[in-house]
Amino acid sequence: MASIFTKIINGEIPCYKVAEDEKHLAFLDINPNAKGHTLCIPKQEIDKIFDMDKESYLELMAFSYKVAQALEKVIPCKRIGMSVIGLEVPHTHVHLIPLQEMNDIRFEKKTQLTAEEFKETAEKIASLL
Ligand code: 5GP
Repeated sequence: MASIFTKIINGEIPCYKVAEDEKHLAFLDINPNAKGHTLCIPKQEIDKIFDMDKESYLELMAFSYKVAQALEKVIPCKRIGMSVIGLEVPHTHVHLIPLQEMNDIRFEKKTQLTAEEFKETAEKIASLL
């Protein structure tokens, strides 16, 4: 069965898109740790990041790098944190999280955003990519 992220790639489930290229998609996390929390995914559905071939892994990192640079310009923060977990969604994704404090990377503190805030944030990041 297709992962929820493959359904997002295929447009079956909506997302607040930040960036896309031939092999990757970046979109806002629907239950963000902090405003701007973005997920970068390969379009190829692979569960575990270290099961990717090395070239695809490095391409995902290069894509995430570009998104992180734009994210840091848009969201006031001390730095962009990066995390890979995958215990909830078995489709490789890189979490990029604007950090003010350690708790922002802990997946316990969540931020509520309105649809308008999601839309505006995604558009601002996308405008730099
Ligand atoms: P992980 O698999 O790394 O533990 O976490 C999966 C992440 O994907 C979570 O932060 C969760 O909020 C996010 N997520 C799960 N389902 C969706 C969805 O349908 N849309 C979006 N934008 N994010 C999702």
